[in-house]
This record gives sequence, structure tokens and C-alpha cells, in this order.
Amino acid sequence: MRVDLVFITPEAERLIARCARVSHRSSAEDPEDDRRLVRKLIALGHESVLEHATATFEISGISRACANQLTRHRLASFVQESQRYVDARQSRLVRPPTYSEDDWQAAQQLFHQARELYAKLLARGVPKEDARYVLPLGIETRLVLSANFRELRHILRLRLSPQAQWEIRELCRRMWELLYAHAPSCFEDLRPLAQGKEGSP
Ligand SMILES: Cc1cc2nc3c(=O)[nH]c(=O)nc-3n(C[C@H](O)[C@H](O)[C@H](O)COP(=O)(O)OP(=O)(O)OC[C@H]3O[C@@H](n4cnc5c(N)ncnc54)[C@H](O)[C@@H]3O)c2cc1C
Repeated sequence: MRVDLVFITPEAERLIARCARVSHRSSAEDPEDDRRLVRKLIALGHESVLEHATATFEISGISRACANQLTRHRLASFVQESQRYVDARQSRLVRPPTYSEDDWQAAQQLFHQARELYAKLLARGVPKEDARYVLPLGIETRLVLSANFRELRHILRLRLSPQAQWEIRELCRRMWELLYAHAPSCFEDLRPLAQGKEGSP
């Protein structure tokens, strides 16, 4: 799995605090004042101001199973590599940590057979969009996700939870690390979840 932060609103904490201060006609120069205000807004549940900052991630090497879960988040925007247009003959399978070495050997053998059938179908003139029906859910995919900070917090809260599956949890843990590094006050309350120290969202 690879997670790259392609874009994040520059000085996001500054921007969010500035937007929030419009409602009170107040101002501040010190970035620490901005962070204090952001923490207070989050604690009070006034998260709509977080919508003014956004981030874009490029994510690769996750399974289609994981991508299916991620793309259920309707307020995020996505572009996913298309199996209708991109040849899947060189694609790899994602290995679940619960698989033993024997399980993994068997899964790879099955995947090899599926790819062989896929290649045969293509050679017979079947279009990629139909040949892909023989490919498994564990095949890797690549996508771009953009969302505002409020929605990112929502996704992280749900998907860092121990109830979520290991792959999307690992993905969200990496997203959290990147977001926290750039805008700590907006994401620091999610640290216990990101570090697996909290039971539920
Ligand atoms: C542990 C776990 C297990 C799951 N298991 C299943 C499962 O078995 N089957 C299944 O189908 N799904 C499952 N899901 C997916 C889940 O049902 C949601 O589709 C997914 O979490 C997206 O959540 P959301 O709608 O809150 O978020 P988003 O789509 O990201 O939306 C964010 C928020 O915006 C608001 N919103 C968005 N759209 C609307 C709307 N149209 N109307 C009103 N408010 C809106 C809501 O407040 C929502 O919480 C699971 C999710 C998790 C975390």
C-alpha cells in the first residue's frame, strides 16, 4: 500500500481559524491562538468551519475490497483506475495478514489461473470491461481521494475503529499521519484511534 498526500490547503489551521473568527469579528496573530481556537471548535462540535480546508491523496496497492469500502463515503471525491481501460495482466494480489503461507500460495495460484483466463479472453477479442469479471476482489487498485477536513475526520473516525477491516484501518492510519503532520490541531483528537488505543468511534 502506498499513500501520498498530493495536496493540502496551505496553512489550513490559519485558514480555518480565520473563517471561524468572521462570526465574532475577532482576529489573532499567533498561530498557537489559531490552534487553540480549532481545538475548541472541535470540542464543541462546530465542525462546519473545517470544511474550508481540503486534502487530496493518491492511494495505490490497496485491494478492490478496500476501495469499495472507501468509495462509500459520499462527500469525498474519487478517481479510480479503470479496469475497463487498464490492462490487468500485470496486476498483483493484496495479501491479508490472516493468510498463512499455504493460504497465500493457494491464493496466488488461483489468481495466476484467473489472470491466464483473463489474458485468453482478451486474446479472443473480449473487451477488458468484460474480461475483468474473472478477477478477484483482492486485486490491487489505485485511486485519488479528495475531501474537506470535516469529511476526512468523519472517514477516519469510522475507519480507524477496531470494527473496521485491517486494510482500510491501515490506509486511514497513514492518511491520519500525513494530515496530523500538516494540521495537528485538526486531527490530534483522533490520535488514540489512529494508534489503536480506543475501542469505538
Ligand atoms: C465498521 C463498518 C462496517 C460497515 N458494514 C457495512 C455493511 O455491512 N454493509 C453496508 O452496506 N455498508 C457497511 N458500511 C458502510 C456504511 O454503511 C456507510 O456507507 C459508510 O460508512 C459511509 O458512512 P456515512 O454515510 O456516514 O459517510 P459519508 O457518505 O462519508 O457521509 C458523511 C456524512 O454526511 C451525511 N450525509 C451524506 N449523505 C447524506 C444523505 N444522502 N442524506 C443525509 N445525510 C447525508 C451524513 O451525516 C454522513 O454521516 C460499514 C461501515 C463501517 C465503518
